[in-house]
Amino acid sequence: MKDEREAALKNARPATQAVRGGHRRTNEMEHAEAIFMTSSYVFDDAQQAADTFAGDRDGNVYSRYTNPTVRTFEERLALLEGGEACAATSSGMAAIFAICMSFLRSGDHLVSSRSIFGSTNVVFNKYLDRFGVGTTYVDPKDLNAWREAIRPETRLLFLETPSNPLSEVADLQALSQLAKEQGALLVVDNCFCTPALQRPLALGADLVMHSATKYIDGQGRALGGAVVGDHEHIEEIVGFLRSAGPSMSPFNAWVFLKGLETLDLRMKQHSANAQALAEWLQAQPTVEKVHYLGLPDHPQHELAKRQQSGFGGVVSFVVRGGQEAAWKVIDSTRILSVTANLGDTKTTITHPYTTTHGRVSDEAKMTAGIVPGLIRVAVGLEDVLDIQEDLARGL
Ligand SMILES: *Cc1c(COP(=O)(O)O)cnc(C)c1O
Repeated sequence: MKDEREAALKNARPATQAVRGGHRRTNEMEHAEAIFMTSSYVFDDAQQAADTFAGDRDGNVYSRYTNPTVRTFEERLALLEGGEACAATSSGMAAIFAICMSFLRSGDHLVSSRSIFGSTNVVFNKYLDRFGVGTTYVDPKDLNAWREAIRPETRLLFLETPSNPLSEVADLQALSQLAKEQGALLVVDNCFCTPALQRPLALGADLVMHSATKYIDGQGRALGGAVVGDHEHIEEIVGFLRSAGPSMSPFNAWVFLKGLETLDLRMKQHSANAQALAEWLQAQPTVEKVHYLGLPDHPQHELAKRQQSGFGGVVSFVVRGGQEAAWKVIDSTRILSVTANLGDTKTTITHPYTTTHGRVSDEAKMTAGIVPGLIRVAVGLEDVLDIQEDLARGL
């Protein structure tokens, strides 16, 4: 019965897997997933405890190692990403750090997209560097730049696609070819698309990581992260998590399980709202440029169409009049939240030049297209007409 159920879910479509994957009922026959808020587990007798500790018997020992609610989340996300296994972590950054600690050693080198989350930059530049791992940054769209940055000691290629905030798309199949030739791991931060819109493993990535804090929760409540890949690589990461400790809380795992159940639906609506907003923005005379993958004039519209099943919820645009004009738009909103977070039902608006990219040098900002007039909107699930009216006030 149980095996048949698991086989049926393995072959089911993503929306079904998102609702039902990984759930094993207890003897109480609960319909919704149970939250196992327990740090440790008990044994029938000393012999059973000894066998479990020795690994001769399956069973929970301690929630830093395994927890049934966390396992349900891991199995569900692995199904959705099309991976063999998943390791859940306490945050998205813990997932990135766990990957680095599991697969890099002193003297190794990593090539990363230059358009990555700010804290990921800090982990690479400050902490990995301190332990003798160097990073070279490249334009994520430029395949030649990736190729030229690879050295004999390169062990890992890291990127987000689409990137934040300009939605640059990297060709994952081409990058996976490069990674294979080098014997390096291709790691994709799939935070912006989620498996509802993009499955990097099917395009040749070795590992996919998430900040579950964003669209997987989807409602701005809890911090968490995850890494998905094959058994061998995930086992390595689990080994690190068990010893070092950034494991996911069972309560947060339950919040994310509920988030996954509506992920497909939400990502479709985030994308539809973002598309409508992007088209509306393009028609505004005070808007100079709109960056959204769903617009046919986005330079990578075709690649995004091949690689993703939707264009996602993040729209960036440049207003005429630089920082002053951009701040006026932001300060004139009455409904949108002025915050750098994203992946929420609530629409957020931010000025990358002075917030998320504030510490980046002017020169690097210009190369990356982070101009003073740029505004990023992470489109939520409100009525898009209200979002437009809120922005119209400052435009
Ligand atoms: C937020 C974010 C992270 C970090 O995740 P936390 O859960 O905040 O630790 C990593 N990558 C991307 C793309 C993000 O947006």
